[in-house]
Amino acid sequence: MPSEPIRNTTAHWRALDLRHHLSPFTDYKTLKGSDGGSRIITEAKGVYLTDSEGQTLLDGMAGLWCVNVGYGRPELAEAAYRQMLELPYYNTFFKTATPPAVELSEKLAQIAPEGLNRVFFGSSGSESNDTVVRLVRRYWNLKGQPEKSHFISRTHAYHGSTMASASLGGMPFMQEGFGLPLPGFHHVMPPYWLDFAQQAEGPADFGLRAARAVEEKILEIGPDKVAAFIGEPIQGAGGVIIPPETYWPEIQRICERHDVLLIADEVICGFGRTGHWFASEPFGIRPDLMTLAKGITSGYIPLSAVMVSDRVGEVLEAGEGEFAHGYTYSGHPVACAVALANIALIEREGLVEKVREETAPYLAERLESLADHPLVGQVRSFGLLGAIELVEDKASRKHFEPIGRVGTLCRDHCFANGLVMRAVRDGMVLSPPLIIETPQIDELIDKARLCLDLTAKDLDIAV
Ligand code: PMP
Repeated sequence: MPSEPIRNTTAHWRALDLRHHLSPFTDYKTLKGSDGGSRIITEAKGVYLTDSEGQTLLDGMAGLWCVNVGYGRPELAEAAYRQMLELPYYNTFFKTATPPAVELSEKLAQIAPEGLNRVFFGSSGSESNDTVVRLVRRYWNLKGQPEKSHFISRTHAYHGSTMASASLGGMPFMQEGFGLPLPGFHHVMPPYWLDFAQQAEGPADFGLRAARAVEEKILEIGPDKVAAFIGEPIQGAGGVIIPPETYWPEIQRICERHDVLLIADEVICGFGRTGHWFASEPFGIRPDLMTLAKGITSGYIPLSAVMVSDRVGEVLEAGEGEFAHGYTYSGHPVACAVALANIALIEREGLVEKVREETAPYLAERLESLADHPLVGQVRSFGLLGAIELVEDKASRKHFEPIGRVGTLCRDHCFANGLVMRAVRDGMVLSPPLIIETPQIDELIDKARLCLDLTAKDLDIAV
């Protein structure tokens, strides 16, 4: 019998993890076999993580696109502590509320785009997108148009992991074998010029064509049956897909023309990520509903929200009967107190402006310096969201086969060399904490180049 590993060591935690812990989006067989177990993260400060072996990693992903104010901020811990002592929990069902929930609602209404003045809380982005499905169907029911119940989304979209939010999502591997998408969920092409543009089609023309794919779908289903279109302003988990400038204004026009509600999923894009409080601002989106999570508390505690426009809110408020939907933790006082402290920190430190004026242009410039690398087909960024596309042939931007293999190689080199950069297919994606400083961006790019070189070496490509 092998002896049990010593407590509080990597071997011990790994053994427990393998034996008892089913982690999300994990190939359990490989984890138990060739991968040899999980990396155990034990501490973090600023933009750096520390693992159980004492290795430091620059977190180029802000956790899962969420730790906007960076790790180890006492203000957020103190807000949680104080609120836990005062009122650790009370629900917001049946005509009750708590000070943090209502104060956060007011604050969100202040910073959100114009006309979004009401908030429904949840604990995750998935829950918020489920809420959106029910809010939208409730809206059309109250309007006397219950047949308007279909949703349109896009390929490569990520809207969550629950049954409804995964139906909104456009990732076939999350749907096949699970009876998804549920009936009434449709998908069209994303505004992803690199993969979907026709030969010699420029980004502006492509953006219009991608938007018109939504209109074609509305006409195919019937405008009297389509309830809403949902999209992330920039598709994050789909690979940091930044739409051409022509895309969103055309989507806005199409939704208005066919009386289809427009939902902006700002779960990744919100709270300063793009150098604006919300990405709807620079993209010219006027959403009827907007979903938020992640950066709302910088990931320190679970919280999400759906912002509801006056147009939708007034109908909900005039409707007979209750909206039969909600979660035990809707408006959780501790989570709301942390969100208030988090937003106050973002304001006090001017992080939105810092991204827009200083770090986003710097990241863009530094990413551009990688464009000469033999593996790099394209670099792109918007705010502090970036992507480096790895291709087999630079001129034609032909992908490696099988897709995803080279991205995974590069990601593993990054991990081994102290950088967290995630691979989406063969695109290396970046979303560092908003507090990142320019010397840390230099460090990030230097490490990225080293890992691109190591990946090229594995593929016998000269650098
Ligand atoms: N929407 C978007 C755009 C997301 O990126 C995510 C998570 N990555 C979600 C929704 C789901 O959020 P959660 O994992 O908190 O359920």
